[in-house]
Amino acid sequence: MNASAMGTSPASASPPGLDWPPAVEIVNEAGASPFVLLCEHASCHIPAEYGRLGLSESEVRRHIGWDIGAAEVARGLAARLDAPLFLGTYSRLLIDLNRPVGEPSSIPVRSEATDIPGNIDLSPEERQRRVERMFLPFHDAVARHLDQRADRPTLLVTIHSFTPVYHGVARPWHAGILFDRSKAYGERILARLGREAGLVVAANEPYQIAADGDYAIPIHGEARGHEAILIEIRHDEISDPAGVEAWARRLAAALPDHP
Ligand SMILES: [Zn+2]
Repeated sequence: MNASAMGTSPASASPPGLDWPPAVEIVNEAGASPFVLLCEHASCHIPAEYGRLGLSESEVRRHIGWDIGAAEVARGLAARLDAPLFLGTYSRLLIDLNRPVGEPSSIPVRSEATDIPGNIDLSPEERQRRVERMFLPFHDAVARHLDQRADRPTLLVTIHSFTPVYHGVARPWHAGILFDRSKAYGERILARLGREAGLVVAANEPYQIAADGDYAIPIHGEARGHEAILIEIRHDEISDPAGVEAWARRLAAALPDHP
């Protein structure tokens, strides 16, 4: 599979609204709250011409293709907070919206223990195509929104989920609150969540914010001087509507609405 073959395959003639959706879905953009919510890994959609990047349907629908349950929690939170929400509409296996372009993990050739055949030996043209069709339209929409509300208080919160078992190791946390500069704000969230008996929530687990491994927090949050928090929820917690509802309610109560 190479870029020119993909670009001319019959499958690329699919109706644009279905197979090639706009790269961002914006919910409640006029929301009045100080929160701006992002869910970059909301979708496992891969346009047909990519042949699922050589993976099976079940592999694409595993956590390597998207953040299971995260979009539903983000939608519930947006409704409860009256916050705008920006959701990605393509699988992160095509291009990861939360990685700087050009980093090896931006277009991964391997995710956890799974090789991604359709990402190996990509041409510069195909890399650029994904940047232009998927990455830039999403981030341009977020940046435009943040520009327009520059005179309003803004708290950036991004919603993710993680797999309960990674490389064979069980993860004990129900959720993680990740931050870099927003340490004080993040610790207030942790203190509120910590009042709930039995809930295991940790700072900067199971990942840490890094300039080469994150995009939204440093670029849309910290570079603009906003508080910026990444929330990771273990996806077995949010695999059904009751779990989604519980986490949307819990997070809406735990997020302080001022710095
Ligand atoms: Zn994620």
